[in-house]
Amino acid sequence: MVQDKSKITAFGLNDISVKGGKYVANWRVYKPIIDKEGCVGCGLCISYCPEEAITKDDDGKAEIDYRFCKGCGICANECPQKAIEMKKEDEA
Ligand code: SF4
Ligand code: SF4
Repeated sequence: MVQDKSKITAFGLNDISVKGGKYVANWRVYKPIIDKEGCVGCGLCISYCPEEAITKDDDGKAEIDYRFCKGCGICANECPQKAIEMKKEDEA
């Protein structure tokens, strides 16, 4: 478990958050971007995300909590609408 956030940010981590009482360091390289127009709110991405990083917004569309997303791409693979695109972290 990471204890000193100021030290680990020196390694270029793009996000550090707390989940279940523990720090979660994030080395994400690719970032999922949701096309809200294309999303039909089916919820499949929510079911498949291993990090429980996706919820629904007020319009019933998928919304990603990037504090917990690891960039695995499963959501993008499973979306039947192809409404999630993986982009490189520094290009998103
Ligand atoms: S799987 Fe695709 S269409 Fe379904 S909620 Fe997620 S982003 Fe929207
Ligand atoms: S990329 Fe992986 S961790 Fe991130 S929201 Fe999609 S399924 Fe969840």
